[in-house]
Amino acid sequence: MEEKKKRPAIPENVKRELWIKSGGRCEFRGCNKYLYKDGVTKQPRNLANIAHIVSWTPTGPRGNQNSEKLATDISNLMLTCSEHNNLIDDPRYVEMYPVELLQQYKREHEERIYRVTGMGQEYGVRIIKMFSKIQGQVSIIGDKAVSEAIMPYYPLESDIIIDLTQVEDVTSAQKQIERAVDLHIKSNSNEESYSVFIMAKIPYACYLGYALGNKVKSVSHQFFRDTQDWKWRDGEFGHFYVSKPK
Ligand SMILES: [Zn+2]
Repeated sequence: MEEKKKRPAIPENVKRELWIKSGGRCEFRGCNKYLYKDGVTKQPRNLANIAHIVSWTPTGPRGNQNSEKLATDISNLMLTCSEHNNLIDDPRYVEMYPVELLQQYKREHEERIYRVTGMGQEYGVRIIKMFSKIQGQVSIIGDKAVSEAIMPYYPLESDIIIDLTQVEDVTSAQKQIERAVDLHIKSNSNEESYSVFIMAKIPYACYLGYALGNKVKSVSHQFFRDTQDWKWRDGEFGHFYVSKPK
């Protein structure tokens, strides 16, 4: 009788490296499930499977003559949830998940984790929110929408709020804008970057731009009514033509 071979144990150092590279999340494209917490009770628990791209045995899913050599090789291993571990090895679907595709999933995931976890302080931006009544109405600038719009940056702890809802005329709006810029921005010795969100009358917005000037690092965002968000889109600007004077 042929002796059934046992799947070789994956060394601890290889497991550790895989956990770090995957960020503890399923590497199947689009899943990203966090694998160290029960989904319902939230109790800490190891839910991870270590899946082989090339099977550890030549007759297994995607197995080949290199199977034995690759059985514990980090480049051949993916951290996955059990659902996706089963899916990629399911005889009905295995052909949909060839070696190259799974390698691509792994590469994309690990590059993203590396990039995202590398975010440091330089990714923090100070949010400036300015709003006034527009046709008698005040619109809210939501925190979640702001966070989404500034990705991959993140908002620093406190926002600068310029509330012009009680302002009745342009001159007092200008004064209030100047005061806020002087107090929070011009007198701030830390060189910060700012993301500006405005739900105010256009002259006020223009004046804020003027008050900030071109020495302050700032990016302004506009609200898109169609998608109800503040995210700049590729190709949204159309074309600019620059003609320089002789
Ligand atoms: Zn998964």
